[in-house]
Amino acid sequence: MSAARGASRGPELAREALSAIRVYEGATRMCRMDLSDNTSQWGIPPSLAALLGAGGGADFNRYPGPYGRDLKNAIASYVGVDADAIVTGCGSDDVLDSTIRAFGEKGETLAHLDPSFGMIPVFASVSRLRPLGIPISAGPEQYAKTGARIIYLCSPNNPTGTTLSRDYIERVVESAPGLVIIDEAYAEFTADSMIDLTTRYDNVIVTRTFSKAFGLAGLRVGYGVAAPAISREVEKVRGPYKLNALGEQAAIAVLRDDLDWMRTNVATMRENRQRFVESLRQLGLAPLPSEANFVFAPVTRALERAERLRRSGIEVRAFEGLREIGDALRISIGPWAMMRECVAALEEALR
Ligand code: PMP
Repeated sequence: MSAARGASRGPELAREALSAIRVYEGATRMCRMDLSDNTSQWGIPPSLAALLGAGGGADFNRYPGPYGRDLKNAIASYVGVDADAIVTGCGSDDVLDSTIRAFGEKGETLAHLDPSFGMIPVFASVSRLRPLGIPISAGPEQYAKTGARIIYLCSPNNPTGTTLSRDYIERVVESAPGLVIIDEAYAEFTADSMIDLTTRYDNVIVTRTFSKAFGLAGLRVGYGVAAPAISREVEKVRGPYKLNALGEQAAIAVLRDDLDWMRTNVATMRENRQRFVESLRQLGLAPLPSEANFVFAPVTRALERAERLRRSGIEVRAFEGLREIGDALRISIGPWAMMRECVAALEEALR
């Protein structure tokens, strides 16, 4: 008796902001070859296999430290800042959401790069902010003109794989009336990082993740780097114990033991990306220059092409009607055997 349990009244009883938001439907299908979500195609790090094999986790009956102090120390030496600049989270999703909840007042604007990470307008709406997309071609001064309380940039950007120049980002930061979030989920795949801006400006937070280059997506570990006063505000909203003990131990182990493993995979990924881009060009596509572990190629009828790829067991991410771009496919880069199979299937799907 669902009516008696009130299930059908859910949308009515919930906040109005939720009516325009759909439950995230990515990653629900099991597929033979999943190139849709930019996670590592090189398996779990050896240090995690060792941690699990050595019977790690004897203390999982206890709560972890409330804010992940040991991991903060490890991240601090990895990125070259003080540990009190770090805030950890259950994936960088959690850090982004907590930051928006900490710094956004109801009714104010969150100006974000568009197209970019799809969860940002969702987090903004749920926090009662007004998301406002700024096209990739817009100049940096356009952000400040919106009067936005929060500005979101992403470099390398998901889904395009393109980067914003240091000069562009600094101009946004200098003119911003409020906080600037710089999402560096794909930082390990590119040369330049903006983490140094967090020691020079007190209105910047850079977010990062262990889900991409470090191969720990399933354990949900992310972090932010900012002036300590900013990170403490984010932690207040994030709350204690969000980072689970296994995720924390695994992230510490990967930073200690597997940086070479990570860098080797990144180097292979870059070679494969170049080869894959050339193959796409031979198929008549014009992929955007990518600095991430995926390639983004405008195509016509993207949903139909993705469906055809799915029938050959390959999942990629299709986008429809993106601003200034139109339809496109985003394809994660893995070992060459996978990419070769993907090229063959794409040739069919593009016919
Ligand atoms: N930012 C960007 C740009 C992303 O592409 C993603 C994952 N797709 C995230 C943040 C969130 O990653 P996670 O929560 O796994 O750290």
